[in-house]
Amino acid sequence: MKVVHCLMHLNRDYVCDGKQYKLEKLFVIRDVTDETSALEKEVKDLLREEWKVLARAKPPEIEPGSHCTNPFTCEFYDLCNKPLPADHVANLPGISAKKLEELASQGIDCIRNIPNSFVGVSTALPN
Ligand code: SF4
Repeated sequence: MKVVHCLMHLNRDYVCDGKQYKLEKLFVIRDVTDETSALEKEVKDLLREEWKVLARAKPPEIEPGSHCTNPFTCEFYDLCNKPLPADHVANLPGISAKKLEELASQGIDCIRNIPNSFVGVSTALPN
């Protein structure tokens, strides 16, 4: 049996005559089988890896970071990201993920512990 993948979306060119929607014109069904077939192996491999992770007795030890909110906020955000003290480096206005990682790699998590020689952050606390 051949599987066909289709995408259905609104037809932006359709204009209703004010009486009754013509559903066969309101929606467009596009065959995207060629595009999805090209991704099939990659998706299967990714799913296989994800199932392996889900089958583990313990979650992987991964520190929270920019991956918690990018490209979207993880549903476990509040579990992994406990409230931070007011003087935590993450509270510095406009600090980049890269600078946070640099500070973390040096074991610095409090603003008062940032050395004067550290370039690229303003240590003024937000109001
Ligand atoms: S919040 Fe989500 S992405 Fe971030 S460490 Fe926890 S599980 Fe991973």
